[in-house]
Amino acid sequence: MNTTDTLNSLDIVLANPRGFCAGVDRAIEIVELALAKFGAPIYVRHEIVHNTFVVADLKSKGAIFIEDLNDVPVGSTLIYSAHGVPRLVRKQAEARLLNVFDATCPLVTKVHIEVMKLRKEHYDIVMIGHAGHPEVEGTMGQADNGIGMYLVESAADVAFLKPAQTDRLAYVSQTTLSVDDTLNIVKALQQRFPNIKAPKKADICYATQNRQDAVKVMSTHVELIIVVGSPTSSNSNRLVEVSRLKNVPAYMVDNASEINPNWLLNISRVGVTAGASAPDVLIQAVLVRLKALGAVSVRELDGVEEHVHFPIPKGLK
Ligand code: SF4
Repeated sequence: MNTTDTLNSLDIVLANPRGFCAGVDRAIEIVELALAKFGAPIYVRHEIVHNTFVVADLKSKGAIFIEDLNDVPVGSTLIYSAHGVPRLVRKQAEARLLNVFDATCPLVTKVHIEVMKLRKEHYDIVMIGHAGHPEVEGTMGQADNGIGMYLVESAADVAFLKPAQTDRLAYVSQTTLSVDDTLNIVKALQQRFPNIKAPKKADICYATQNRQDAVKVMSTHVELIIVVGSPTSSNSNRLVEVSRLKNVPAYMVDNASEINPNWLLNISRVGVTAGASAPDVLIQAVLVRLKALGAVSVRELDGVEEHVHFPIPKGLK
């Protein structure tokens, strides 16, 4: 900001709901309980949730994040991240005699069970998701050697699908996708394969749906949206996209220091939301920074109340 620039009177509008979902809450609690019960180090396969602050905090308490199970000493305690793991990883953990706790979100496990059931019934399965995301790796890995699984990332990809057979074809999706993009991909699948079987209940989770809906509502009240989340967080990236599709500029920040004061020039209302893996402490820090930059009020929008809670694994209660 130039010294001659001044901020208009700035109001903050908070999206509702925003931030932590039940699956993230549970996953972090599992690591904390394991640290308390077994002591450090506790090994975690992949970032427990995609948030820089959460991962750094757990590292400081004694969690060690690994990608390869060969880096976990035989007999140690290992936690699977909220994104889930392929079946092969469970076999590797058994072979290394690891004491495993599963922090896979139960809504991801639901998709894993769907895939296993469909494969038993000889369905080929189209997975809608982002290549390279650990949840996609985990879900595709519920089929033996990934056989019978096909990944599509966009509606355009559907034209290039070459399933081995089309008599028994089904689709599943990653839980954290754009609701609108996924609808378009499903339409393209149904056009090309009219008999394709849909999941009984949508795979995109309640938290993803609610946070995207909340951004759509907020976009009619504000001129700019700040999304608190890490670049690796799929659902946070989708919130930025939803906002931009509503013609409201949006920026993702991993923490308050990333807010550029120039974004706020000539803006009178700024919206704040957070991805499902971003803790409230980061949202509060963003509000403090915005107030330091001249914001004079905070107003929270009405929204869906969430009462979802997932149980903790028996051995950690
Ligand atoms: Fe579970 Fe959805 Fe949260 Fe992912 S975003 S952990 S699927 S509730």
